Amino acid sequence: MTITQASTARVGPAPAPPLVDRFGRVHTDLRVSLTDRCSLRCTYCMPAQGMDWIPTPSILTAAEIERIAAVCAAAGMTTFRVTGGEPLVRGDVVDVVRRLAGLRGPAGEPVEVAMTTNGIRLDALLNDLVDAGLDRLNISLDTLRPERFAALTRRDRLDDVLRGIDEAAHSPLRPLKLNAVAMRGVNDDELVDLVEFATGIGAQMRFIEQMPLDAGHTWDRARMVTREEILDALSRRWVLTPVPGRGHAPAERFLLDGGPATVGVIAAVTAPFCAGCDRLRLTADGQLRNCLFAKDELDLAAVLRGGGNDEAIDAMLRRSVEAKLPGHGINDPGFLQPARGMNAIGG
Ligand code: SAM
Ligand code: SF4
Repeated sequence: MTITQASTARVGPAPAPPLVDRFGRVHTDLRVSLTDRCSLRCTYCMPAQGMDWIPTPSILTAAEIERIAAVCAAAGMTTFRVTGGEPLVRGDVVDVVRRLAGLRGPAGEPVEVAMTTNGIRLDALLNDLVDAGLDRLNISLDTLRPERFAALTRRDRLDDVLRGIDEAAHSPLRPLKLNAVAMRGVNDDELVDLVEFATGIGAQMRFIEQMPLDAGHTWDRARMVTREEILDALSRRWVLTPVPGRGHAPAERFLLDGGPATVGVIAAVTAPFCAGCDRLRLTADGQLRNCLFAKDELDLAAVLRGGGNDEAIDAMLRRSVEAKLPGHGINDPGFLQPARGMNAIGG
């Protein structure tokens, strides 16, 4: 008698049409929040204490994340960015990256896996993450001054972050991006220093306008440093030339003195880029959001844990995309900040 070994090849979800919304935007980028917890407490993101954490049983497992992401990949999503909270506080982050990197698109094409991190523990984990298939990294760095860092993040850990950045600079991951939220009276005198630091290690500095997404709901438009102010400050040091062909990227890029080094500005408040948005977001507790500022979420975790099949997950993705509004509405008179803070949405 011949015994045939059962195939262990995973049968992925059936290919599905692209996720196109009512405004013709094709959704190709899934932001996957791995946790709402974090090793820092940045003032623009979390309050010092008193957070209501997502209960552990509600957090999606690595296998659940993979299952949802596989349906997204089958519908033509090509980029999976893990974020949080802080993705590196999650014990199985390497496993999550490996599972995502193993996904394939409708025609068998590989996907891209990126991560946004505060850099803490990156020195210890980077080799494993690269082996697991991580393609790109964005690391947050708001200041190079230890006392400022401690005040801004409420943790004295700048050295840990710089060790992570150093490891990344010596890794094959490119482009390497450093992100800073520009804040009036906090780090707006450091913009040139940050760009010089980034270009010195072969990274691209990007400045983000502060958005009304802090879990403490303390955002103040007057304290936000605008795109114009960021560009003014940088223009005093460099000639800035816009780089054409922004595509779906949230950052506008500028060559510094003709290049090749560049700087990016993410002006979500004063120059929204919603018309080019190609993103969906999955929170750590399995809620699907079609915008950072969405008021409504769809409960993918309930579908998954209720025994829903891949078609049911795909149908929920399509409902979310169908309901997407043309813009985030931050500048509308009736704008209300979403209930979730940035740490629980996934930036
Ligand atoms: N912990 C990781 C980190 O800090 O990079 C990933 C999550 S964090 C929420 C992702 C990004 O969102 C970071 O670059 C952070 O600076 C940015 N961010 C957080 N709160 C923000 C806010 N209120 N406005 C603009 N950007 C914000
Ligand atoms: Fe943590 Fe990132 Fe939020 Fe800072 S911005 S508190 S590092 S999740």
